[in-house]
Amino acid sequence: MNADILIVDDRPENLRLLSSMLEQRGYRVRNALNGQRALTAVQKQIPDLILLDIKLPDIDGYEVCRQLKSIPTLQPVPILFLSALNGVFDKVKAFQVGGVDYITKPFQEEEILMRVGTQLQLSQQKEQLQHQNQQLAREIRDRQAAQERLQVLLHTVSHDLRNPVAGLGMTLRGAHSNEAGQAILERSMRETMVQSCDRLLRLIDSLTTETPETEAISLQPQWVVLPTFTKSLLREWRSMFERHQVQLDYRIPKDLPHIEADPDQLARIFDNLIGNALKYNKPGLKLTVAAIPKETEVRCIVADNGIGIPPQQCGRLFDRYVRGQGKKQEGLGLGLYICRQIVEAHGGRIGVKSKPGRGSQFWFTIPV
Ligand code: ADP
Repeated sequence: MNADILIVDDRPENLRLLSSMLEQRGYRVRNALNGQRALTAVQKQIPDLILLDIKLPDIDGYEVCRQLKSIPTLQPVPILFLSALNGVFDKVKAFQVGGVDYITKPFQEEEILMRVGTQLQLSQQKEQLQHQNQQLAREIRDRQAAQERLQVLLHTVSHDLRNPVAGLGMTLRGAHSNEAGQAILERSMRETMVQSCDRLLRLIDSLTTETPETEAISLQPQWVVLPTFTKSLLREWRSMFERHQVQLDYRIPKDLPHIEADPDQLARIFDNLIGNALKYNKPGLKLTVAAIPKETEVRCIVADNGIGIPPQQCGRLFDRYVRGQGKKQEGLGLGLYICRQIVEAHGGRIGVKSKPGRGSQFWFTIPV
């Protein structure tokens, strides 16, 4: 589209001359006879360029220019001053208030067209550059966000593989260290290990299909019988419990209503909560795994009688990369974040109640 030029000059003959020169070259021209009208004209439509006379009857050209430049949308619009050759014209002041060039009267058509054309081209290029810069900044932001999500995914993979692999290793080492154990590697233990391996493989599959674009947990829900499910999961923890001399207090009633959940993701929650209880507390811990039916949900609990968590830390522990006390233990501050993601994907809630020195009770709900 043709550029829109605003000419501000109090002399009609100047306006006529300039207008006809510019219109012949296809520019759209608007006129203003004084500073006030110029300020009104720009409010109706932002011009692409302004030719501004220094000597105006009301406000002088410098002041008009200063006022125009204080309007944010007019900052990129080039303003060229018009001045009489023999008149008083302070070039430095003209540039200081925001002018980009000046044209002296009497006007020479070629000069005017060249200067106007150059300034319009420059401002167009500037606009294009700004647009490209904004696009680049957006791309950089998007890439950084994608990289961050990828990093989280990588950390998640390593974090969640740690507990089951450690459990498997411990079971195997236990059997290996005593010959009798090797010989009688119980059938149930073998079954548990196979079950662990299968779960690990499914976990790897689910983690690699989780798209870093969304970070959302994708669920494959099915009916889960919580008592059977938790018993079989806790079998995988048996060697670890023995090593940590855990006293397990199992309180999941047989008649609990079935829940619809993704069993592999549910196992990740229990693994993280149980793994944390063992990691942050001394051996000899009493560990409670419980579930209580409520009206529309089942409330699952993993509680310990360990060191507890200071109340001011409890609220933020479920955020990404947030760690509490006990930084000596290996960790990334991701476990509880993953638990929250999974619980929320199921439409549930998660939280912790804790008393320092008395223990922590992590709970989460799954709708029935
Ligand atoms: P990580 O174990 O990688 O640090 P988590 O998100 O699993 O990350 O846990 C966050 C923090 O919560 C831990 O750094 C720890 O301070 C605290 N925490 C979690 N579980 C327990 C627990 N059972 N007893 C005491 N502190 C715990």
